[in-house]
Amino acid sequence: MVYFVGAGAGDPELLTIKGKRLIDSADVVIYAGSLVNPAVLSDVKSGCKIYDSAGMHLEEVLAVMQETEVQGKTTVRVHTGDASIYGAIREQLDALDRMGIPHEVVPGVSSFLAAAAAMQKEYTLPNVSQTVILTRMEGRTPVPERESIEELAKHRATMILFLSVGRMEELVERLCTSYPKTTPVAVVYKASWPEQKIVTGTLETIAEKVKEAGITKTALVTVGDFLGDTYDLSKLYDKTFTHEFRQGLDG
Ligand code: SAH
Repeated sequence: MVYFVGAGAGDPELLTIKGKRLIDSADVVIYAGSLVNPAVLSDVKSGCKIYDSAGMHLEEVLAVMQETEVQGKTTVRVHTGDASIYGAIREQLDALDRMGIPHEVVPGVSSFLAAAAAMQKEYTLPNVSQTVILTRMEGRTPVPERESIEELAKHRATMILFLSVGRMEELVERLCTSYPKTTPVAVVYKASWPEQKIVTGTLETIAEKVKEAGITKTALVTVGDFLGDTYDLSKLYDKTFTHEFRQGLDG
């Protein structure tokens, strides 16, 4: 059996109880050493083999999983945040299917959620934006043309950019094709880690501030008026707004 576990954004206490239980009872753990906090592996059982996937090809990762399976043992593949976001999990799942190895996926606290918590902000403010776009600028891995920054910016929704902080100037220029220059931006570096940093500004000022802070990676760029102070009150908790469950309509 292979379990894919989302390790959360960094703070080991953001691991789910299920993820922690699986890691602590694993025979083999494969994790991305550069992004996952090694502290999430602090209670692995003695004899657990730990591999850092940073230096491994897909085939090598799969070979370790297969060998473990043949021995009737359990592999836990630890991903940063949640594996469904830029996790390269799909190719592993499909390969395991072809190899006939069963697998299960355990969700994790993605960095974009840890970033909102760090900022104490809500991405979906009433009458500001009810849409969150998670995306990235193209780099060595391309992005489909219809999802270019310029296309997505047209919505002026809450936008969260992964893997893009290294090219702030270009990013800002492309966002400014639709967002006003005064739009607030917050860059969250290493959300939930002890070295977490939050840099705030506007599209006009943020590139310079990020440069001054020396942030070049492991950060999210969050953009939109959700960072401002103007919004409508939630209808959900409005005493004049009746709904099916005053008892608690959350979904
Ligand atoms: N699956 C991960 C994302 C992997 S892609 C998740 O759900 O969060 C790696 C990118 O995610 C980094 O380049 C950075 O943009 C972002 N990232 C990961 N952890 C982060 C953190 N703790 N704080 C801010 N950004 C983070």
